[in-house]
Amino acid sequence: MPRQTIQRIVETAGPGLHSGVVTRLWLEPGQPGQGIVFERRDHPGPPRIPAALARVAATERRTSLQLDDLEVQTVEHLLAACWALGVDDLTVALDGPEVPILDGSFAPFVALLDAAGPRPHPGRRRLAALPGPVEVTAGEASYRAEPSEQLQLRVTLEYLEPVIGQQTVALPVTAESFRRELQSARTYGFETELIPLRNRGLLAGASLGAGLLLDQTSVRNGQLHWPDEFARHKAGDLLGDLALLQAGLRAAITAHRPSHRGNVALARTIAEVARYSEEA
Ligand SMILES: [Zn+2]
Repeated sequence: MPRQTIQRIVETAGPGLHSGVVTRLWLEPGQPGQGIVFERRDHPGPPRIPAALARVAATERRTSLQLDDLEVQTVEHLLAACWALGVDDLTVALDGPEVPILDGSFAPFVALLDAAGPRPHPGRRRLAALPGPVEVTAGEASYRAEPSEQLQLRVTLEYLEPVIGQQTVALPVTAESFRRELQSARTYGFETELIPLRNRGLLAGASLGAGLLLDQTSVRNGQLHWPDEFARHKAGDLLGDLALLQAGLRAAITAHRPSHRGNVALARTIAEVARYSEEA
């Protein structure tokens, strides 16, 4: 597959889920081979932070990238959309510290990329393949990845709270399946977590339009798009974190109670053992 960038500049804006800072974001065509690079336009330079595993700085409730004392928080929903749609080279300019949360799903970023018009440009996409199975555990999250001809995910959640309970989503990942099965799945949080997380500097931008607010037994702010929307969202988050490999991936991945910290640990393990080729 040739590498892809976009045809035209598009923009969006909104508050970040954790910082609460209203940030404008522009997607701009990238140079062949640059990968996805975040650019903090609100600072002189401007500093450029590649979407790479080496730049991951924080993983509590989101994935954040850091360069010196500058960060870009909550990159995973945008990166999942880029990876699923096969956009490899992109400059993501921001005038603040966090990617806007928008409706809490991946769909606004898919729509933005569609409006930007993906287009092939020089270079071939890198492809990572596993030489054998790998297993990773991080806290309550555990993963197994096996060699496979195509990328497949199986994600299981296990919550004591009956509103989620145990649910599993399994699918082969393609641009089509991402659009159909995952892109509209929203992030979620429990009312009881809101104040403790805010006290730790997170969720300052949480609002009723930016994801699903839950109590033990019900969704407090609307209807689910699917009964297993929670597992679907976590599958999308996993894709966003695996995008930090900066390559396509041939693997069948089983994730049990995934977290961003676990996802990044899995991506690091895969990056260490993978064999890379150029996608035909
Ligand atoms: Zn998410």
